[in-house]
Amino acid sequence: MMLRRTVMSATSRLKEGKSLLTDTVTARNTTNGNTKAQIRTFQSKSSPIYKTQSETSLVSGFRNLGIREKPKQSTNHKPPTTRRGFCTGNSGRLNIRSLQDVANIFKQNQIENVVVVAGAGISTPSGIPDFRTPGTGLYDNLQQYQIPYPEAIFDIDYFHRNPKPFFTLAKELFPSLGNYRPNYIHYFVRVLYEKGLLLRMYTQNIDGLERLAGIPASKLVEAHGTFATATCTLCGYKCDGDDIKDRILNDNIPKCKKTSCSGMVKPDIVFFGEDLPRKFYYHLRDMLQADMVLVMGTSLEVQPFAGIIDSVRWQVPRILFNRDVVGPFRHHRRTKDVVADGDILQTMQKFATMIGWSDEMVEIITQSEGSYNVTPRRKM
Ligand SMILES: [Zn+2]
Repeated sequence: MMLRRTVMSATSRLKEGKSLLTDTVTARNTTNGNTKAQIRTFQSKSSPIYKTQSETSLVSGFRNLGIREKPKQSTNHKPPTTRRGFCTGNSGRLNIRSLQDVANIFKQNQIENVVVVAGAGISTPSGIPDFRTPGTGLYDNLQQYQIPYPEAIFDIDYFHRNPKPFFTLAKELFPSLGNYRPNYIHYFVRVLYEKGLLLRMYTQNIDGLERLAGIPASKLVEAHGTFATATCTLCGYKCDGDDIKDRILNDNIPKCKKTSCSGMVKPDIVFFGEDLPRKFYYHLRDMLQADMVLVMGTSLEVQPFAGIIDSVRWQVPRILFNRDVVGPFRHHRRTKDVVADGDILQTMQKFATMIGWSDEMVEIITQSEGSYNVTPRRKM
């Protein structure tokens, strides 16, 4: 893997005096993988863990988690100049009924803490099908692994008996192989970050496209895990995901580096039967600070992930960008909920134009991908 440092010329700053970046580090993998993954997000309506463990996980997570992350703003970020946040009592007077109203709030610098909640739908434009899309989804393409039932590939008990199917799959999924690239939606979140507006992005996706888009790990909660790190299943020794990549690519089971341990090392993907990452409980604090929630490309069906958007205060606008109207936006809509349904890629482009961020979007994608395309493809 090669890291490419891109330093943006100061002369290329865009109009309105809004500097976007001064120093962009873009991690990009230049290794050409031969495989074509058909997969990626972790979404199962029948997942036993997400339904049965949600409450106990929440309680124990809250008790155990010391959320002490210092608020960190990049020096490149330009904070909103006007701070008439919703939390201070102005929210009652703000009339929010349409996407244009939401865009106006951005334009008027009336928000500063945006929480993004994302699911499989943001990555389908990158060519990664939903797990459950009939015909192309993960569960329809598992016959080659000869597993007893589709979900077994992410079942921790089955994994301990037979890890081979998961590692065969991991070989295709590994984000740093570069089979898939972030799309316009990921880069929209990146621009939110660059402007100092992104409080946190919660994602159900395990494709790693958020990181590839340049959103730092500190701003990410990868609720269903990540290939970026890995852990020994026996002694708990942690390592970088890239440390085990070669073994996975060579069809070997990664083993613990500790000489005294013979444990198997597993990427930190959350399996059925495992707790969510501790960082997931950041939402207990983040949602209290949020002054806007952008929900993108998720069916809001998998708990406890889906439930976090309900913990935000009532006066905080929640915007749904999704193909269909789902979850509380369908049956329990709040007065400041806004629905932007339909093609999510087109809607995000329209929204960025409404805010006046089109030029920034072109710039960030061009900087990161080498050319402008709303759905960048792998470099050959
Ligand atoms: Zn070990």
